[in-house]
Amino acid sequence: MSITVRPQTLLSDAHRRVARDLRVSLTDRCNLRCSYCMPADGLEWLPGPDVLTDDEVVRLIRVAVTLLGVRKLRFTGGEPLLRRGLVDIVAAAAQLRTDEDRRPELSLTTNGVGLDKHMDALATAGLNRVNVSLDSLDRERYAALARRDRLPDVLRGLEAAEASGLRPVKVNTVAMRGVNDVDIVPLAEFCLARGYELRFIEHMPLGPAHAWDRTSMLPAADILARLRERFDLTPAPGRGSAPSEDWLVAAGPDHPAGRIGVIASVTAPFCASCDRTRLTADGQIRTCLFSHTETDLRTPLRAGADDATLAGMWSGAHATKPAGHGIDDAGFHQPARTMSSIGG
Ligand code: SAM
Repeated sequence: MSITVRPQTLLSDAHRRVARDLRVSLTDRCNLRCSYCMPADGLEWLPGPDVLTDDEVVRLIRVAVTLLGVRKLRFTGGEPLLRRGLVDIVAAAAQLRTDEDRRPELSLTTNGVGLDKHMDALATAGLNRVNVSLDSLDRERYAALARRDRLPDVLRGLEAAEASGLRPVKVNTVAMRGVNDVDIVPLAEFCLARGYELRFIEHMPLGPAHAWDRTSMLPAADILARLRERFDLTPAPGRGSAPSEDWLVAAGPDHPAGRIGVIASVTAPFCASCDRTRLTADGQIRTCLFSHTETDLRTPLRAGADDATLAGMWSGAHATKPAGHGIDDAGFHQPARTMSSIGG
């Protein structure tokens, strides 16, 4: 007989939201330098001793799943494949049971470079799904955007994800006006032909200083307009708390049916249904990508705090989660950390 462990506390807030989805950043380092995410020279990386050890990451994940009602875990970064202990962390997370007495859903967001070498071990460890970031299928444009000539590696990674049998394989694309908007339809054709789910993401003000402005951002409406010129789209039902608004693509003479999403974080924020909480690689809790405050769990954890204390601090941080990310507020200013050091 299995015994369901009920969480003592939930990550709930004053706006009636409950966070069930934890983004775990495993490193702030990356092997690409995507222009919208990092400066060409990279960033000042976190000092090694500040980064949580594998055991510390697993401990905090366990607190989230067994005491705080978290049901989904997404490993991200920086580039999570650069984390040596990734497979062991996934394997440990797969041993946990949620408040519904299930394994937490485990997914990975990666740029795909080197995924082919790790995919089998990750699937065996219990990973359920992979999202691969891919902004262009044109090798030169990819290399210009990522500042690294790694498109062939990414495509190998995607093939490995497909071969692993984990479904659906998802592809994430940040669409930018005048940069890779010409890739929207080719990427959609590529993904439909292979059964991948493609999601376009609006460019958010989370990159190097001054890298974002509304004119370079391609709004979801424009992305959809480009897609509609080529495909027959109907809204997919049942969005729930998913950030992505999904569309069903009808089969055409030269492509199968499929599913494409658009994440309109800027023009149609989904903060009211946000169910996310974030743990940075240096052990800070963030309730929102755009937070200016963090809750330090690393210091109390290393000082010997017990699980109940850590859970209390985590839920306390969520109690004051703001209603929205505030990008449209007059006084909005970008958080000091970029997406890569928060964990995208
Ligand atoms: N390295 C992994 C990857 O490439 O997927 C995980 C981390 S990366 C920061 C996660 C996602 O954030 C990627 O899909 C990336 O394109 C996206 N991203 C980074 N900066 C962004 C920004 N300013 N606006 C929107 N998406 C961004």
